[in-house]
Amino acid sequence: MRTSKELQSLLQRIDGKGYKAYKDLQGIYNFEGFQLAVDYVQGDPFAAPSRIRCIVPMKDGAFPKESYNPPPKKQALKDHLTRNFDQTLKKEYQGAKGTGKSGMISIDAPGQEILERTSFYIDSEKIEVRLEVGLPAGGRKILGRVCKKMLMEILPPFIEKNLYYKNLDQEALWRSIRLREDQEALWDLMKEKGWIAFVKNGSILPRESGISQKPLTKGAVPFQSPREMEVSVTLPYAGEIKGMALESGVTLIVGGGYHGKSTLLQAIELGVYPHIQGDGREFVLTDPGAMKIRAEDGRGVEKVNISPFINNLPHQTDTRAFSTDNGSGSTSQAANIIEALEGSAGTLLIDEDPSATNFMIRDDRMKKLVHKDKEPISPFVDKAGSLYRDLGVSTVLVIGGSGDYFDVADKVIMMDEYIPKDVTTAAKAIAKEYPRAVKTDGEAFPRLKGRVPLPSSFPRDRKGIKLKTRGTKTLLYNRLSVELYGLEQLISSSQTNSIGEIFKFLINKKVDGNKDLKTLLEETYKIMDEQGLEGIASYRGHPGNLAKPRKLEVLGALNRYRNLRIK
Ligand code: ADP
Ligand code: MG
Repeated sequence: MRTSKELQSLLQRIDGKGYKAYKDLQGIYNFEGFQLAVDYVQGDPFAAPSRIRCIVPMKDGAFPKESYNPPPKKQALKDHLTRNFDQTLKKEYQGAKGTGKSGMISIDAPGQEILERTSFYIDSEKIEVRLEVGLPAGGRKILGRVCKKMLMEILPPFIEKNLYYKNLDQEALWRSIRLREDQEALWDLMKEKGWIAFVKNGSILPRESGISQKPLTKGAVPFQSPREMEVSVTLPYAGEIKGMALESGVTLIVGGGYHGKSTLLQAIELGVYPHIQGDGREFVLTDPGAMKIRAEDGRGVEKVNISPFINNLPHQTDTRAFSTDNGSGSTSQAANIIEALEGSAGTLLIDEDPSATNFMIRDDRMKKLVHKDKEPISPFVDKAGSLYRDLGVSTVLVIGGSGDYFDVADKVIMMDEYIPKDVTTAAKAIAKEYPRAVKTDGEAFPRLKGRVPLPSSFPRDRKGIKLKTRGTKTLLYNRLSVELYGLEQLISSSQTNSIGEIFKFLINKKVDGNKDLKTLLEETYKIMDEQGLEGIASYRGHPGNLAKPRKLEVLGALNRYRNLRIK
């Protein structure tokens, strides 16, 4: 390990030289109160930034053990510290002059959700923050003095302020940890009671705008459970709270246009993740295995058994191992469901808005006109019941345009000016009064076989395999782009980064032509559960930009990878 004096003279020595001389910085330096590790040095001022870590021994950082044990608390603590660090940087750091990314200091900042992240590392020995920095340059020449100021004068107070328990707002820190504990307790309770979702009374569901996940502040109508569905639960810190419990089975959300149906479903979709204080959805939690399903025409599909939904395609296409480079609305939606089931999804979340109409319903008149032999699709309305009876998979479905679903629904909720009403009895009475002429809901839902990916799915080019993230919804495998727009619960580009890392890990260590996708992912997640995301990542410098995705999204990405070949 080098001393900070050595860093200082090194920076003096390379001042004014070509940018490449910065490479000499790589190494670990002893500072007062922490160690600075320069893990990766960028090639030029415009390239991907350099990566550093600041490491404080836990005996000095002195976070109490109860603040990072068990894992959900550690997740909350890391999340809290990351946000704090980001906020103090944004408030107090002006940056430095220079070309390209010169002077940048940044941490992988989270959105409204609390995810397992790698921006901080904490164990009983140390606490470590992982940052990206832009090493300063004028043109392409090293600005040694500016760099010295940045690393040796500006950075240390931020470490001082954010990595020492005694210097933090402890009230706020414990509020974050306790909220996360309450959320975990609520999830445990829900599992025990068999609830697939819980929405606390008073929750704020609508968002600020179509492009902001912040809560709507003006004119938001707070959530209020229908009396018939209201339950009361007691949490360790929040105490007694009341809200709507959704039982397993088939739940419909109906109501007029613009009355808040999709908004409720979207809140339920994102309830697979805990949210931060002030989000409005702190106690909107959902079965962690709930999967949003939509139509996604154009997507590729590789040997998926969509036969429970689709049969007798023209030209005798086999739908038990259906492949296409260009799925239609209905075949893509069917594939999305089957793939979700393959990933053991416990609940399907479906909105009529992005669904294929012919996949969702077929009314009596159309059945009269188009004979069954000529219609390959068994609409979802005929399958929702057996999905629950035979596989135990629940559905929450937004549908304003068809009463055909009344027969199979266990619960019908009507949104009325943003307030939900339980209208199950009325809906059932109507179903009785106006029965459907032909019902095909009788066949059992088949069990599905696992799909085994072939190693040849993952070609290497001259440089091997490169995975790159473009925003949240695109992953690049060498030159091939994997479009993830259909995965609506993929919410952070840091999750997408992790999916790239998991791809690499699977390809290099796991895919053998024998194990099916589900087994491959289970084995990989076991390693991540034990060692964190660090356990599988192959990174340049440090892995500070990762957040844990669900297995369902990783599987979703693999299934959307157009080179995937299944045995
Ligand atoms: P639907 O799916 O029933 O057509 P949406 O859920 O899309 O309706 O909601 C319509 C509009 O109402 C959206 O702009 C949404 O942000 C807003 N909205 C939804 N819920 C609430 C609420 N509880 N309070 C205020 N505005 C809301
Ligand atoms: Mg809608």
